[in-house]
Amino acid sequence: METQTAENNEISFAEFNLKSEILKAVNELGYEAPSPIQQKTIPLLLEGKDIIGQAQTGTGKTAAFALPVLHSINVKSSDVQALVLTPTRELAIQVAEAIHSYAKHLGRVRVLPVYGGQSISQQIRHLRSGVQIIVGTPGRVMDHMRRETLDISNLKMVVLDEADEMLRMGFIDDVEWILSHTPKERQTALFSATMPREVRRIADNYLNEAVNVQIEVKTLTVPTVKQFYLNVSERQKTDALTRLLETEAAPGEAVLIFHRTKVGAAELADKLQARGYAAEPMHGDMSQSLRETVIKKLKNGKIEIVVATDVAARGLDVERISTVVNYDMPSDTESYVHRIGRTGRAGREGRTILFVTPRQQRMMRDIERYTKQKIEPIKLPTQADVAARRVGLIKEKIIATLAEQDLELYLSLVEDLAEETSRDIAEIAAAAVFLTVGDKPIEVNVEPEREQFAYSEEGMVRLFIDVGRRHQISPGDVVGAIANEADIPGKAIGAIDVNDRFTLVDIPGELVEQVLKKMQRSKIRQLNMNIRRASSADAETPREKPSERERERAPWRDAGRDSGRDRDFINRREFKGKKAKRKDSKKPFPKRKKSKN
Ligand code: AMP
Repeated sequence: METQTAENNEISFAEFNLKSEILKAVNELGYEAPSPIQQKTIPLLLEGKDIIGQAQTGTGKTAAFALPVLHSINVKSSDVQALVLTPTRELAIQVAEAIHSYAKHLGRVRVLPVYGGQSISQQIRHLRSGVQIIVGTPGRVMDHMRRETLDISNLKMVVLDEADEMLRMGFIDDVEWILSHTPKERQTALFSATMPREVRRIADNYLNEAVNVQIEVKTLTVPTVKQFYLNVSERQKTDALTRLLETEAAPGEAVLIFHRTKVGAAELADKLQARGYAAEPMHGDMSQSLRETVIKKLKNGKIEIVVATDVAARGLDVERISTVVNYDMPSDTESYVHRIGRTGRAGREGRTILFVTPRQQRMMRDIERYTKQKIEPIKLPTQADVAARRVGLIKEKIIATLAEQDLELYLSLVEDLAEETSRDIAEIAAAAVFLTVGDKPIEVNVEPEREQFAYSEEGMVRLFIDVGRRHQISPGDVVGAIANEADIPGKAIGAIDVNDRFTLVDIPGELVEQVLKKMQRSKIRQLNMNIRRASSADAETPREKPSERERERAPWRDAGRDSGRDRDFINRREFKGKKAKRKDSKKPFPKRKKSKN
């Protein structure tokens, strides 16, 4: 078996000779250059080779197989031509969505995610209407094959995504059964983060002269900077970033933020500007001279934040950069090391913060292993932390002004004011401070924080439904119920996050009232359910337990940490309210009813 390693040579997507419609979609998504795994895998798959890719989430492996799959699809035929097997329904949905986004300009390409928990008759209807690419979990795919509702006799390509996970979850026999029923002349790609013996055996038995593709791990020189990580969900990233900028970045120091895409870098810089930061993007679509202008501005302090892509920030050397934020996970370890090397220049101290979403935990452990350095966790600063920091900065400024400025004239102004208004000097000082804070007030405003997590994408409002995975609810059920009951188009419904006992779903703001009203007494999969606006209690927050102090200050923060406790949490609040009343009337409090869960 041949083994190839991916290197970081400069090659562009255009060199792959993919269909122009695919290149257009990739460019619109803002991908600047193929990631290392894509560089090696895409040409091999286009040549028709079988491959074993040792890669995991975050390396860009989905596009590594999805682009060649789409390239080889005959759009005019309605046969099932490609099958992607994934360990979980979430990954199936995610991969199907990714393929869909790359297929945007290809005309009528039908991609269907199929997974357990979703109505099988609905899936059969979709399958009958002609689907070219199936992305599914092994059990459900096998089910359809047995029922003969899925005809794979014209299959050209099979992808096993996260094969080691499928093994771990006990699906490997199903995978093998499916493979043994696929046409012999198919092409096969197997992706796995690790290569346990069983996965290797599948590769030996079902792949044909497969080429091994690995991302080469070079000897690394890791700069001596302090490395931290923060657990966030995708939708929390922007808010988390602004809080960190407020509480962590020292005035006068520069921050470099890494984004994976050109479009994303530009959008994030816009958002930061809108929030009052001197931020600018730097990416591959900008001319060299424009990029140099940005670097110059960063060097001389005209801007404090640059949001860059990996390509644009290569070799960037600005001493002022004290903090590097990996807003997106880098596509490989080497790129992480390169990114963090943009700080701690010229013997200065530097610090890096890596945003890690739940699915990227393994990638972070990999980075730790390869760099042989620990990345320490940090907590998301609270609103109170932000306020405390603002107070601290104002105090510092005032103390420095007292020490450095000649305040004679101002002193007499204050004395005049005190006399004219018969106010205390302290009150006048307070008014003056108020004037200096501008749009950054120091009060801790708890309600907006709660709301913040209740909103997701712009224009969308997050709703909370009190049934979840343990009630056998799938995203498809949620879409079905809301679309039917509330009479809104299914595609208007945004992100759906099915947790163990509850579900969060994003609805366009203008449809929220309609949904809430029409769904008051409705059911999902025969189950009674309640729907309401989500609060921060429902938000996905880091796993670690909050400190006692934090819990006291913001009790709702506790509930979202462990999805399983959500029901209890709601009951606890009702319970507290009742108890207070009962105490007054001196009646014994009735025994609390056992929660159904
Ligand atoms: P994956 O490893 O397939 O889960 O991909 C991780 C993330 O990287 C996804 O959000 C992709 O949209 C993104 N991505 C994939 N390829 C590239 C690329 N060449 N440049 C920038 N982002 C990419």
